Amino acid sequence: MALDDLYREVIMDHYKRPRNRGMLKCAEVVVEGANPLCGDDVTLWLEIDDETVTKVRFAGHGCSISQASASIMTEAIEGRSLEEIDEIVQALRGMMLEGEQPNEELLGDGIALEGVRQFPVRIKCAVLGWNTLSLGLRQFAESGGKPVEAHHRE
Ligand code: ZN
Repeated sequence: MALDDLYREVIMDHYKRPRNRGMLKCAEVVVEGANPLCGDDVTLWLEIDDETVTKVRFAGHGCSISQASASIMTEAIEGRSLEEIDEIVQALRGMMLEGEQPNEELLGDGIALEGVRQFPVRIKCAVLGWNTLSLGLRQFAESGGKPVEAHHRE
């Protein structure tokens, strides 16, 4: 199987069987992200304890890339410290936006998103969930650890 096909299969698998879909009642961070260009939206709920994202859930609508990418992101970050998550998001951005080598150790199934670089208009779909996460965590840090609701727009 060609690498492209394998990547496409990983993305379709996350789209059809999203991981961590749902919501959380006692989330420290609720953050909504939108990519109006494609009509994608993603909402994330994060439980944060002791500088660690202990639980993450997401909901959303939109194209397969945006929704699969959000599912992949939740798997990559659940149970990780805020510092690790920062590194993970940087690795994803580096791969998608700067052409850096995919880092499977940090990104897990996220390396499958590299194939999306061939379609520049879809890159915003692929980074939506990650940028939404990043904004939510930044506002949480700025709030001094108080619960936040945030909005992100690509
Ligand atoms: Zn999209």
